[in-house]
Amino acid sequence: MIFKIDVPSHLVFVNNRTGLFEELKRIILSNAIDDVLIITDEYVDHMISNEIYTFMSGDLKKRVKKEIMRSDRIAASDDLAAKHKDNIFFIIAVGGGKTLDVAKYIAKKLNIFFFVVPTIVSHDGISSPVSVLTDEQDNKVSLGTKIPSGLIIPMDIIANSPKRFIAAGTGDLISNIYSLRDWHLAVEEGKDTINNYAASLAHISANNIFLWRMLPPEEYFSSEYIYQLIEGLVFSGLSMAMAGSTRPCSGAEHKISHAMDKLFKTDFLHGEQVAFGSIYSAYLHRHKWNELKLFLKEFGLPVNVRDFNLSLDDMVEAILQAPAMRDRYTILEKNPKTPGEIKEILEEMESA
Ligand SMILES: [Zn+2]
Repeated sequence: MIFKIDVPSHLVFVNNRTGLFEELKRIILSNAIDDVLIITDEYVDHMISNEIYTFMSGDLKKRVKKEIMRSDRIAASDDLAAKHKDNIFFIIAVGGGKTLDVAKYIAKKLNIFFFVVPTIVSHDGISSPVSVLTDEQDNKVSLGTKIPSGLIIPMDIIANSPKRFIAAGTGDLISNIYSLRDWHLAVEEGKDTINNYAASLAHISANNIFLWRMLPPEEYFSSEYIYQLIEGLVFSGLSMAMAGSTRPCSGAEHKISHAMDKLFKTDFLHGEQVAFGSIYSAYLHRHKWNELKLFLKEFGLPVNVRDFNLSLDDMVEAILQAPAMRDRYTILEKNPKTPGEIKEILEEMESA
């Protein structure tokens, strides 16, 4: 049987505002799109979205509406979808993770096409078929949505965003190396089947980034690096769409991050927690955990338990609870550890 998946048909890198405005205008006009909704947040609206909106003039402006996203709650996203149910045909999401997640959710709900203009690249959600929204109990939930039809990448904005976001994107992308090891492990144990196309895409993207450890750290935030990071994050999204799940890009390290979210409700970024989880997973997989820790540390990522303002016992609890976060076979289930063993591993990781 041959399955058909939707893939983004459009990936354009622009270097300045004029390039971005002209590209958006070209897409709307060349596709004769009449009813467009720009979804953004207040901060990004001041920075760029209002300029985009102002740039649209005459007939073009009549086709475009703008909505400021004020909450990533499911209920608020449902309200936005209901409000625009009959008056939009196309969404352009301009902003960071939450804005993109809300836009993806609404686009899926209304069954319409959407483009994204990510202003930061802190995780692989820029093109994944998953939205992480907040439910009524204040929990973050992952919902299956769809990948964007196109991405316009404003390189000037991303290159000037705080380095912390680029570092977090690195953490989320590099985790593919370990989630893929988990996937292969599950296949060996007869608990899953592989999609080699998806696995290869996820692997190449992450491996290309890990190869940068051979280069001096001064290169890590260069435009060449950022370009390759974005490419990798886009391909990660595609690999999830191909697999029909987050399996290629989410294994034990993501379970640990989800447990940290649940137990501590930290303010740390997803990619920062996943980077730490990757070091622990690399240790269990016996795969270059020392090199990985050093590489991630050069990006300024938190690589020790104390960097999260947690005690070793806190982290032991998160790792103990991690397997229950999702029904997915990983190294955590293959190689369960007692609290004492986990603490010993963490101590060894801290001392490196
Ligand atoms: Zn992730």
